[in-house]
Amino acid sequence: MNVIWHEDFKESYCSDPAAAFGRMEAVIDVIQDRVAFTPAIPADEEDIRACHTENHIASVKRQGLYDIAALAAGGAIQAAFTGLSQPCFALIRPPGHHASSDRAWGFCFFNNMTIAISKLKREGRIRKAFILDFDLHFGDGTVNILGRSDYVTIYNPPESDPNAYLRNVEAMLPDDADIIGISAGFDNHLEDWGGVLSTDDYREMGRMVRAASRKSGGGCFAILEGGYNHRVLGQNVMALIEGLEENGRKGDRFILYRGQLTAGRKFEREISEKLDRRMELRGPGRPKRNKK
Ligand SMILES: [Zn+2]
Repeated sequence: MNVIWHEDFKESYCSDPAAAFGRMEAVIDVIQDRVAFTPAIPADEEDIRACHTENHIASVKRQGLYDIAALAAGGAIQAAFTGLSQPCFALIRPPGHHASSDRAWGFCFFNNMTIAISKLKREGRIRKAFILDFDLHFGDGTVNILGRSDYVTIYNPPESDPNAYLRNVEAMLPDDADIIGISAGFDNHLEDWGGVLSTDDYREMGRMVRAASRKSGGGCFAILEGGYNHRVLGQNVMALIEGLEENGRKGDRFILYRGQLTAGRKFEREISEKLDRRMELRGPGRPKRNKK
């Protein structure tokens, strides 16, 4: 899968946990041999202005954070456009879902998701969009900016029971959206702040989103929001990517820690080969795997 990424995201641009040293490296370490990276390009100010006031943009500039926040927004735009034809993940920070048009909090500055979705809409690439925000925290900024629009449905699952959580996500996913965007915050993981979802649950949600987008003939993409336990963040991102790629089956546990990568890769290769054989039997429509 294509992952949108930029070396500048490694920079610890402020003192909040989203900007912590080592957070991006923790993800890169796990995914680097299994994805293809595409460099992020900063969003045009015009695209940011579609979702934020001049006042707010000026305040982000005053904090010295415009460049990194515009780069994150640009990465989200690239993931959304790529997502129209193949699933894509944007490994970006600062996150965005607590950014409203005129203010922001919760480690966010520009609303990466709404900037991306509204650009797709302005350019006539979509009629309907669905945003699944599975971050631990309610994405108030996204709702403030796009919640009253007539073309976007936003779902923040409220459940604290993982089975109900997944059931409701599956039930809420539309079969008529041209794009499904995931605000992928991993802070609701069992070993993160929220303590609800397992790594497998992220893989499962990836699979559900891909299945829903196939049904509607639309696309899908995901962008990083929260997720603060560096020890598990990488495996959770990888699980979501695997789900979106429809790799592995329910209950598969890929071994992703560094020392065990070889075993994990061998296992994954076997499964991929099996899937490839099955796909070949079925003929065209075979998903493109874009691994390095
Ligand atoms: Zn969060």
